Amino acid sequence: MTALIRNASDAAYEITAEQAEIRDAAKKFFMNELHPLQQRMDDEDWWPETAMPALGKMGYLGVTVPPDYGGAGLDYLAAGLVAEELAAANPALGISWLAHDNLCANNIYRNGSEAQRRKYLPKLCAGEWVGALGMTEPGAGSDALGSMRTTARREGDRYILNGTKLYITNGPIADVLLVYAKTDPAKGAHGISAFVVEKHFPGFKVAQKLDKMGYRGSPLGELVFQDCEVPAENRVGDENRGHVVMMSGLDLERAMAAPMSIGIAARALALALDYAKMRVQFGKPIASFQMIQSKLAEMYIELEAARTLVYRVLVACNALDRGEGGRGEIHKLSAAALYAAARACSVCCTEAVQIFGGSGYMRDTEINRLYRTAKLNEIAAGTQEIRKLIIARELIGG
Ligand SMILES: Cc1cc2nc3c(=O)[nH]c(=O)nc-3n(C[C@H](O)[C@H](O)[C@H](O)COP(=O)(O)OP(=O)(O)OC[C@H]3O[C@@H](n4cnc5c(N)ncnc54)[C@H](O)[C@@H]3O)c2cc1C
Repeated sequence: MTALIRNASDAAYEITAEQAEIRDAAKKFFMNELHPLQQRMDDEDWWPETAMPALGKMGYLGVTVPPDYGGAGLDYLAAGLVAEELAAANPALGISWLAHDNLCANNIYRNGSEAQRRKYLPKLCAGEWVGALGMTEPGAGSDALGSMRTTARREGDRYILNGTKLYITNGPIADVLLVYAKTDPAKGAHGISAFVVEKHFPGFKVAQKLDKMGYRGSPLGELVFQDCEVPAENRVGDENRGHVVMMSGLDLERAMAAPMSIGIAARALALALDYAKMRVQFGKPIASFQMIQSKLAEMYIELEAARTLVYRVLVACNALDRGEGGRGEIHKLSAAALYAAARACSVCCTEAVQIFGGSGYMRDTEINRLYRTAKLNEIAAGTQEIRKLIIARELIGG
């Protein structure tokens, strides 16, 4: 085996030579091929259709899915390092990748039947199909389980879905969606089931594509299910056990979204550092002023403190069995990791714009894009407030 020299940071974070090699190759590919697409994606809210097949071809789809189903079979830390580099190079492709790879493909792998895995995973891993996950509704955001109104009524060998899903990443372009609906509304949160819906199923419709302030280019939509016919064999897991799929999936989503915040924060710090060394005021580079140095140091501390937790939680995810999660240590840790990473991301992006001064306020600069992007990391996959609720509930118990 090639003896790669690990740098001090990799050693501190216990990143192996193999994981570092995967990360470095991903970084090179993402910076060369995907970073240049950002500007047009942001300006025109444009989705580059060749991106998913290109990611599939390079082995960056189905990263946590075993090779038997077409995936890369990486451990969660290596997969997180890929997510981090993708988000740093092109955040909008990063969030679409997360919805496709983690929310949809990995959930089907962890919870689906063998037939569902064989049918859906190879095409998702190749990037031939785009995946999405539909949980949020107009009246069901933070209280996604309790307030869910979408229903699935069993009729013979099919289910009939009725309802609306809102803010669905990849919704307008998805071929395959993992959708939650109430199969027994009287049972509340314990009456939910999960389904794989294909875009051509009768009764499925994209109601509208939504316009957002950051992550532009990643298509976001409102989806309508009007007597949508879903074959019974497309139910994922047992009937009325959808909350288990959802809650364990959310832990892994938070664990995998966290390194994306780290990637964006690291990119903001790198851009700010370059600018501070280059920009001259009062006859000196602004990096020579202690107030700017203080900002740079604080950004670094926030970032590295969060990174430490994020990497440890990704390692902990490796030990999760099928269907495990949604409560206990991993529930608390994944919420804490995403909270810390999202906060570090907001601090780094805000301070970076400050270091850029007026130029950071210009909409077409990369740092301005990152600043507009960062806010979502405090909102999606459970808001900062909900992450704190999860942590507090686990601490208090009961
Ligand atoms: C760009 C984008 C992409 C998204 N992608 C997806 C996706 O792919 N799939 C999907 O299913 N969903 C997706 N979402 C939805 C996202 O997960 C929700 O927006 C999020 O969970 C918050 O729900 P909400 O917007 O309804 O806010 P609300 O739940 O209405 O919350 C509003 C405010 O009240 C606070 N709040 C609510 N309850 C409490 C409480 N008990 N205690 C204290 N404060 C509280 C919240 O923290 C927040 O500050 C996406 C959203 C966006 C904006």
